[in-house]
Amino acid sequence: MLRYPHDTHTHTTYSDGRGNILENVETAEKKNLKLLGISDHIHFFTEKTLRRYVREVKNIVSDIVVLAGIEANVIPGGSDLTDEIRKRLDYTIASVHTFVSTSNEYVELVKGALLDENVDIIGHFGANFNHVGNPTWDEIEELIGLAEEMGKAFEISGWYRTPPIEFIKECIRRGVRLTFGSDAHMPARVGDVSWSERVFLKAGGKKEDLFFSQFL
Ligand SMILES: [Zn+2]
Ligand SMILES: [Zn+2]
Repeated sequence: MLRYPHDTHTHTTYSDGRGNILENVETAEKKNLKLLGISDHIHFFTEKTLRRYVREVKNIVSDIVVLAGIEANVIPGGSDLTDEIRKRLDYTIASVHTFVSTSNEYVELVKGALLDENVDIIGHFGANFNHVGNPTWDEIEELIGLAEEMGKAFEISGWYRTPPIEFIKECIRRGVRLTFGSDAHMPARVGDVSWSERVFLKAGGKKEDLFFSQFL
């Protein structure tokens, strides 16, 4: 049983997920989530399908809060979100999906995304540090400082099990908010955020440290 049952990172057949929006909602209800975010990959949408996607999410009738989000890509200098896309959505995630060969390169990309006014949440931060190595603590502090200044949040990914607890503690210390995400690509995995909550609580996280605390 989760104390702050929410999942703001799930995919459907609008991108590369296997279930539809309703199936994600049904799992979220079954698992007693209070908030579910649908966040399909931006590059799968056309203007027309984005419109249909948002309408479908808004038309969901449920006891839980269901929000229309999106997972955008971090690109040099920001993200591939546009003002036009941003204004249709309840929230936005931007994640690094491109190949990087050093952690410094990764940090520079994320800095750009933190400066992008269309981005709310940085998705699965550090998912590829296994391959490229960890950034220095100075780099981490610079990033979290920038997030603090810009009012951005970081996702705690139950799937990638990232970012590490030291990072989360520093976010909490500086008032940078956090959110739980399963990155589910099938309905059965919606709400798989127990790792996220465990590390959040271990880091001393409280309700007000969560980006969507008003729904929890
Ligand atoms: Zn991703
Ligand atoms: Zn994803």
